[in-house]
Amino acid sequence: MASIFTKIIQGQIPAHVVAENDRFIAFLDINPLAKGHTLVIPKKEIDYIFDLEDELLADLMLFAKKVGKKIQKVVPCNRIGVSVIGLEVPHAHIHLIPINGINDMNFAKPKLNLSKEEMAEITQQIKKA
Ligand code: 5GP
Repeated sequence: MASIFTKIIQGQIPAHVVAENDRFIAFLDINPLAKGHTLVIPKKEIDYIFDLEDELLADLMLFAKKVGKKIQKVVPCNRIGVSVIGLEVPHAHIHLIPINGINDMNFAKPKLNLSKEEMAEITQQIKKA
């Protein structure tokens, strides 16, 4: 069965897409730890990130770098935290999270409740950056 992220790629499930090319896509996390929390994924559905072939993994990270720099331009923060968890969705993804301190990377924290409008606005800002 297709992963929820493959359904997003195929347009079956809506998402706030901030960047996309033929091999990768980046969209806002639906339950963000911070405003601008973004997931970067390969379109090829592979569960575990270290099962990606070397070139795809390297290019995924370079794509994430570009997206992370855009997020940093529009979300005030010290830097963009980069994390891979993968316990919930079996489709490799990198979390990009605007952070000011170590506690901002705590995935056990309650998530933000951003409105659709706020999510749409930050999406537009990141896309334009
Ligand atoms: P992980 O697999 O890295 O533990 O967590 C998966 C992440 O994907 C979570 O942060 C969760 O909020 C996010 N997520 C799960 N389902 C969806 C979805 O349908 N849309 C979006 N945009 N994010 C999702």
